[in-house]
Amino acid sequence: AELDTLDIIVLSVILLGTIAYFTKGKLWGIVKDPYGGSFQNTNGAKAGKSRNIAEMLEESNKNCIIFYGSQTGTAEDYASRLAKEGKSRFGLETMVADLEDFDFDSLDSVPSDKVVMFVLATYGEGEPTDNAVEFFEFVTGEDAQFTQGADVPLGNLTYVGFGLGNNTYEHYNLMIRAVDKALQRHGATRVGEAGEGDDGAGTMEEDFLAWKDPMWAALAEKMGLEEREAVYEPIFSLTPSETLSINDTEVYLGEPNKMHLEGTAKGPFNAHNPYIAPIAESHELFTVKDRNCLHIEVDISGSNLSYQTGDHLAVWPTNAGAEVDRFLSVLGLTEKRNTVLTVKALDPTAKVPFPAPTTYDAIVRYHMEICGPVSRQFLATLAAFAPDEETKAEMTKLGGDKEYFHEKVNTHHLNIAGVLESVGKGKKWSNVPFSAFVEGINKLQPRYYSISSSSLVQPQKISITAVVESQVIPGRADAFHGVATNYLFALKQKQNGDPNPTVFGQTYEITGPRNKYDGIHVPIHVRHSNFKLPSDPSKPVICIGPGTGVAPFRAFLQERAKQATDGENVGETLLFFGCRKSTEDFLYKDEWEEYKKAMGDKFELITAFSREGPKKVYVQHRLKERAEQVNKLLEAKAYIYVCGDAANMAREVNAVLAQILASQRGISEAKGEEIVKNMRASNQYQEDVW
Ligand code: FAD
Repeated sequence: AELDTLDIIVLSVILLGTIAYFTKGKLWGIVKDPYGGSFQNTNGAKAGKSRNIAEMLEESNKNCIIFYGSQTGTAEDYASRLAKEGKSRFGLETMVADLEDFDFDSLDSVPSDKVVMFVLATYGEGEPTDNAVEFFEFVTGEDAQFTQGADVPLGNLTYVGFGLGNNTYEHYNLMIRAVDKALQRHGATRVGEAGEGDDGAGTMEEDFLAWKDPMWAALAEKMGLEEREAVYEPIFSLTPSETLSINDTEVYLGEPNKMHLEGTAKGPFNAHNPYIAPIAESHELFTVKDRNCLHIEVDISGSNLSYQTGDHLAVWPTNAGAEVDRFLSVLGLTEKRNTVLTVKALDPTAKVPFPAPTTYDAIVRYHMEICGPVSRQFLATLAAFAPDEETKAEMTKLGGDKEYFHEKVNTHHLNIAGVLESVGKGKKWSNVPFSAFVEGINKLQPRYYSISSSSLVQPQKISITAVVESQVIPGRADAFHGVATNYLFALKQKQNGDPNPTVFGQTYEITGPRNKYDGIHVPIHVRHSNFKLPSDPSKPVICIGPGTGVAPFRAFLQERAKQATDGENVGETLLFFGCRKSTEDFLYKDEWEEYKKAMGDKFELITAFSREGPKKVYVQHRLKERAEQVNKLLEAKAYIYVCGDAANMAREVNAVLAQILASQRGISEAKGEEIVKNMRASNQYQEDVW
């Protein structure tokens, strides 16, 4: 048959699409991040400059490039800190770069008098962060082809490496370990140790500080750098505008990018571009004393967003009003909060972390992690700008003395404003250039939540299940309150009729910049995950999810109950759920009964209530009691899923499983552990832990 015009058009589109896919748009110069341009000064590479590392260094007169592989912003923050320190202490010409923006076959062209640094977070199950996937595959690949094709391709390369990991995960710091090995295999020379920071032990910051000093000494020696007294040099200039006011439409009052500012927001919605989603439904799953658990549903119809059961929802929070006020006040900026600032990167390779022109208020409220843990190094930087000598001495001490810092700052969960207030005894810190805060405080990060709804059952409505973060801190008058969950709590109150909700004494700018979030919206995006039910529903599954760890399993059960109702053959489904008391924090208690009705014998809920009996019972104990059944299911190729607390529960479940296999199969525990390892490797054992 002859092709008609329509066929030809369709085929051409498919062909062009295929080319675009395989060339990643490089042939056409397609810019990957369409929102990059909406920021004032984006990273050089994004602005259409070279993806060749050596060329970039040459063009921008740099001798040190610091790449980050970052998911939650910490690695990016450490990269910036290394860049600043390298410049101020050693006169290195540094630049920070997103791994995603470069091609790594050009690593072999970097001359030996320059240094390349890698700050690499390991994500989840030993995976690279989203922005590091291509880099990781390239360098660790067996047949990496470098530009010049030399036998020892990286013989000229000097590099430095630091990894961010979590020892509670199976593949601790896999990224830095694997990359370090691969670089050495290609002949590169590492300076200093390949550092490893451990979030699991809560020592990330101290691990970083302990690693970097010997590294700098070794690098200074190798590159013949001279140390000088570090003076603060701003990377960004923030200048009050003479002409603009908050009434001007081009001023950002918290809008995440240009399309949002202009009211033309459209997809794709992702980590650079949130969807302002209407909240369709919200309620509390339980409220006991000061513990609250939220069930929130956002409507994604009309957004072109989609999700799959097992994915994560990212929520973009807003800082609490009182914390914004406190921060601005201690800097002496209260009166100027609505002053419009133009923001410029003084170094063309630096990236302004928020869109501008904007105001102090908007920067602090929407873009800075002002409530997060304080960096000890940052306190040392701020000492130079202290309001008086006594304060300066105290700041220097806090910055230099690990134990003292821990005792005074960490144990009280102080945030930066809290430290400045207490050290300065109420004096204003108006000498600190605001740029120092922009550079020294992390970008406010979206928080992730395991989606608790099934995309088969409710494709247009995503639900999450979140415990409101609230902790009593010994020695502190007020409790500590998490950023995102308390914001969500306030949204829930508003959705349920409270026009001006106050939660734990905090209020939030719920209607968002220029009231654009009114009608109760929350900025979100969806992050796809590998935590997935078997594609064949007849396969048995074992789910272990105490507390909010049950979130994705509520989705799994919603899905399997629907499949059963539709007449599909659904395999056995065991759910181990644990909480304190059956009468207190038993999540989705009534729903499980409905799923039971739909699935009959195919579904069994096994509960562990830790505070009901004389002894504490946890899910891992219940799992052990069911050793025989669990082993049989695993022999029938059941998939096993663990969600929730990474530090204790997930580890123990892993250990118990190995014991079950050993006792049931008459093998050694070591062998049992090996089987569990293989199950993980083949995705028969999946974790979604935090
Ligand atoms: P934050 O403000 O981020 O505080 C969190 C913690 O950080 C505090 O408890 C404290 O330990 C520490 N901290 C913060 N500030 C300080 C300070 N100044 N000093 C010292 N320590 C400090 N949660 C759920 O409830 N349900 C889920 O389904 C869920 N799924 C998740 C899935 C993934 C993949 C991940 C990564 C996390 C998930 N979480 C889930 C956790 C969630 O993302 C948030 O971490 C949690 O809700 C707390 O957020 P927050 O902004 O309220 O608290």
